[in-house]
Amino acid sequence: MQKLPDPVLLAIPYFLLSMPLERWWIARNRAGSGSSVPKGYDTRDALTSIGMGLGSLAQTVALGFIVVRALEFLYSHRVYTVPLNVGTVFAFVLLEDLAYYVFHRLGHEVRFWWAAHVTHHSSQYYNLSTALRQSWMVILAFTWLPWIVLPLLGFPPELIFFQKNVSLVYQFGIHTEVIRKFPRPIEWLFNTPSHHRVHHASNERYLDKNYGGILIVWDRLFGTFAEEDFADPPVYGLTKNIASHNLAYVAFHEFIAIAKDAWRAPRWSDKLVLIFGRPSQIEAVRKRAGLLKAS
Ligand SMILES: [Zn+2]
Ligand SMILES: [Zn+2]
Repeated sequence: MQKLPDPVLLAIPYFLLSMPLERWWIARNRAGSGSSVPKGYDTRDALTSIGMGLGSLAQTVALGFIVVRALEFLYSHRVYTVPLNVGTVFAFVLLEDLAYYVFHRLGHEVRFWWAAHVTHHSSQYYNLSTALRQSWMVILAFTWLPWIVLPLLGFPPELIFFQKNVSLVYQFGIHTEVIRKFPRPIEWLFNTPSHHRVHHASNERYLDKNYGGILIVWDRLFGTFAEEDFADPPVYGLTKNIASHNLAYVAFHEFIAIAKDAWRAPRWSDKLVLIFGRPSQIEAVRKRAGLLKAS
């Protein structure tokens, strides 16, 4: 198929212009806005997010060939060659968004993948710069595995990378407190700033909700949807915040915690749970193996 443009490269001016614009807008509208006033920007926090974004980009430039080669290899062993027309491209967009949902949900439920994804949740602010706070371990932690189904089904890798980046650009724009709610049909169908604020919140009722990429219907379908309640505003960040602006620490702290836990756990079965388990299992194992006091 013909070469497609890179939506992320095309969107760079939009990324660069929209952040100062959002910051200016929040500062201008802050006075007298009452309790729903956006938290806005913290310069060090925003610079950390931008640094993480640049590091993540460097990772893609250096190691992206691994994913490209893997998807091309799988495409060469495809079960079918999908003819590209309006119907199949529509189906593809749905499937790609479903792959994103699976990746994102596993990114919260499997500790090894959470260690990569936690980076994105480590800011206690919620603005456009937060969107750039991306993992440096996407490729080496194999968080791209949910997408391997698509080339096997017969969708060209070129199209997959294009749509993945369309989704990334779309999701940049929902990291904002400036927009409260869209009209109901939009809020029903799409992932919006309101839905994604819930996803970034550490409030008990909002935890592990709203994993969708472009569409929110997957969460409605699989029981992980939560509506933002303006009476209970999101408290952004982690349940235990890291309070660090050291880029390497932000990138690797949970991988280090996993290594320490796995090293200290005496049983092999415990080591496996500590690396790949769900948060609830991990707490139980850490308690049993006596790892809680020492860490
Ligand atoms: Zn997440
Ligand atoms: Zn986000």
